[in-house]
Amino acid sequence: MANNAQNISQSRPKNIIIMIGDGMGPAYTSGYRYYKDNPETEEVEQTVFDRLLVGMASTYPARVSGYVTDSAAAATALSTGFKSYNGAISVDVEKRQLATLLEKAKALGLSTGVAVSSQVNHATPAAFLTHSESRKNYTEIAERYLDTDADVILGGGQRYFSEELINKFTAKGYQHITEMSQLNSVTTPKVLGLLADVQLPWVINDKQANQLSLLTQKSLELLSQNPNGFVLLVEGSLIDWAGHSNDIATAMAEMDGFAHSIEVVEQFVREQKDTLMIVTADHNTGGLSVGANGEYVWKPEVLHQVKASPDMIAAQAIAAQEWQPIVTNLLGFEPKIQEFATLTNARMQGNEAMAIALRKLIDIYSNTGWTTEGHTGDDVQVFAAGPGAKLFSGHQDNTDIANKIFSLLPSSAQ
Ligand SMILES: [Zn+2]
Repeated sequence: MANNAQNISQSRPKNIIIMIGDGMGPAYTSGYRYYKDNPETEEVEQTVFDRLLVGMASTYPARVSGYVTDSAAAATALSTGFKSYNGAISVDVEKRQLATLLEKAKALGLSTGVAVSSQVNHATPAAFLTHSESRKNYTEIAERYLDTDADVILGGGQRYFSEELINKFTAKGYQHITEMSQLNSVTTPKVLGLLADVQLPWVINDKQANQLSLLTQKSLELLSQNPNGFVLLVEGSLIDWAGHSNDIATAMAEMDGFAHSIEVVEQFVREQKDTLMIVTADHNTGGLSVGANGEYVWKPEVLHQVKASPDMIAAQAIAAQEWQPIVTNLLGFEPKIQEFATLTNARMQGNEAMAIALRKLIDIYSNTGWTTEGHTGDDVQVFAAGPGAKLFSGHQDNTDIANKIFSLLPSSAQ
């Protein structure tokens, strides 16, 4: 008996880090592998995703919402172990609150945190921290964060936090920061870092900054100060947003930002040996396809040439008289005469139409396909390392992921 108990305690991690690539279906990690491939070498190099893969997960929501989940129902499943309706923030189909992973961790004396590239009160972090009948209740969710006692809250979302609300956070001992440059000044919990009005900058427009990995690093530094351990959620939120826009250049840059954050955690897991990391996606977005139109071709090298997000290229093209050279320069390839004619048309219709036309052009040149501007019901991958990682191998449901994590929490939580 004693021996058995000892074995369990040895395989039980002190710290747990769950990382979610929002919308990151299998085509994203495959595409990312070829995007990162060094064409100078014979082999296709492994990515962090290939290194850490252990299993797959189904993502369907509660019966009432069919087979295709949204981020709220999926995050509810991953955080509570229960399926709910699309839009639910850790409430069940009867709208009763479900205990979340971070609540359970807090009750055990562990520290908790979230670090995300969307606004901090977006669906995924919200379902780990609190409860709401609808993901759209941004103000209510922000206010409820006050009662979560979370030690680290890092991401965007300034517009959802009134001065009055910020004052309540600082009265509770939170250090409030609004700039990445202030991150160094935070050396102990608690912190409320709202580093952008809504989302953090797109990685494609801000490659040096690599903000999510900096937030991840800081979260580990702060949360590991608790000798009892911690549970941290990291979300690469904007992979999904790029997927909704069918924007492959922006999506692959976001994948790179998320991969760097995973590497930060992987390094921590290697050094600490008492920390479990689990990486998964909440669902697949856009029906991305690596190759399209009957051709056995995908050209990620086209994506490396794109110097800014199509949104930003569109804005610059609309602002300039001599816009064609700007577009050619920022796309990294020269559109043909008839393609410029299409762009001229789109440019007259405004920023959104121009951005869409640019994304379509990038799809043509890279031979990328999409089937929807929404989500799809494909299974997603599960990646893990550290004590307990083997539990996540093979096929599982997204609710199983939560239940397996619960089984690894200190025993009084179960
Ligand atoms: Zn989505």
